[in-house]
Amino acid sequence: METAAREDIDALQVTRLRGQLDRLFEKSEFYRERLEASGYEPGDLSSLDHVAALPIVTKSELRDEQMTHPPFGRFVVADASQLRELHPSSGTTGAPVNTLWSAQDVDAIAEMTARTMWQFGVRPGDVVLNAFAYGLWVAGMSAHYACSRLGVLVIPSGTGVSTGKQIDYLVTASPTVLLSTPSYAIHIAEELAHRGVAPEKLALRAGCFGGEAGTENPATRARIESGLRIDAFDYYGLAEVGPTFASECEAKAGLHFAEDEILVECLDPGTRQPVGEGELGVLVFTHLNREATPMLRYWSNDYARLTYERCACGRTHVRALGGVLGRQDDLVIYKGAKFYPSQVEKVVRSFLELSPEFRVEIEREPGAQLVRQCTVVVEWSEASREGLDVRLKGSLREELGVTPSVRIEAAGTLERTSFKAARLVVR
Ligand SMILES: [Zn+2]
Repeated sequence: METAAREDIDALQVTRLRGQLDRLFEKSEFYRERLEASGYEPGDLSSLDHVAALPIVTKSELRDEQMTHPPFGRFVVADASQLRELHPSSGTTGAPVNTLWSAQDVDAIAEMTARTMWQFGVRPGDVVLNAFAYGLWVAGMSAHYACSRLGVLVIPSGTGVSTGKQIDYLVTASPTVLLSTPSYAIHIAEELAHRGVAPEKLALRAGCFGGEAGTENPATRARIESGLRIDAFDYYGLAEVGPTFASECEAKAGLHFAEDEILVECLDPGTRQPVGEGELGVLVFTHLNREATPMLRYWSNDYARLTYERCACGRTHVRALGGVLGRQDDLVIYKGAKFYPSQVEKVVRSFLELSPEFRVEIEREPGAQLVRQCTVVVEWSEASREGLDVRLKGSLREELGVTPSVRIEAAGTLERTSFKAARLVVR
């Protein structure tokens, strides 16, 4: 499946999407209303060219739907007896949207995640330290199921234990693979150094990092790889679409998607029409097989560039080059310049005199998009601070096209988190 020819992938997608659309039309009032409004009639879809005419669904529509049709909205299309798990979106922006998984969905998610883990090199006999959050957040569970499917030993440490405990497991249980957020991987590396544990003494050889931006950023990847002496790979997921449904392969050549399960589009945020291959656009996802709460052209808000070229690893499914490049919600518009916190991260993490932690603090009027004041908050590590603010401002100006204020705090001032680090603070 992973190396199928393009025409075979396309044909499979048309067949599966037609089946899914018929099912949505028949079983979901929420989708039927939208499909009818777009002029769609059951059986209409005969080529992927028709997808652009189908309705797009946004997170706020899903949220409104769950409020007006509680508890889960009319986009639940599986029978109640088929439902197995509820997972909310993380709620980083507004009220969470609840996603449901049927037994068949749990199985498909485990399979898709097992594929991602296989492609960055996990094999039977590996030991995985799974420091993704378990419970309501989706990634811990899906990675856990995938480990079982791959036949590897998993240490389900999650995020409920101290970093000291995680390090104890790294030392005593010899995991070979680490799963966590990228900022937490850096924090573990900092703690190892602090405790005088040499990373080369550990059995770790690889890690895959997601839940927040970072691993796709060369400076962040370099910090993780040198701090833990491992190969670091990028993970991507969305609660509504799939917890861990895209990752890099061993070639580190962008995020691989599974097109037999998910139709991936890249659209212009203004016109909502497809952008050309390699052009920047917003990722939009359609579930081809999801049973309980299928998404039809779900607007992710995440920017990426897609390529359909066969990867060096031999896989043919579409890839996001350089990972996900930013969230539409996180775009900062300041003095005419537009930038993402990930660009600040790139600069901050290239300064070895600074700790890897940072915040972008912005002030704006309620409801307004324009930012009045923007401050990048960083921490100095033990090295010299001589002229650091001037050099940092210079590098930020080069990357962002505008000079924010800079505040350099003492090391350890900014909060460390094993969950999702909030880089943007809006006042
Ligand atoms: Zn590849």
